[in-house]
Amino acid sequence: MTQAKTIPCPTCKKESKKEENSFYLFCSEQCQLIDLGQWMDGKYLIEGSDSFSETDEAE
Ligand SMILES: [Zn+2]
Repeated sequence: MTQAKTIPCPTCKKESKKEENSFYLFCSEQCQLIDLGQWMDGKYLIEGSDSFSETDEAE
């Protein structure tokens, strides 16, 4: 019985299967970009991420 390894996304903590995941460690490209953005002191802002979540528009 083989169990697919899942890894928690560092950004949203969602578990994703490593083997199906081309964004190693992250569940999606978006989470990867978000994490990279944090690395860069949040200078990198995700624009047009309408499908990400219902975040408030706080500046
Ligand atoms: Zn994620």
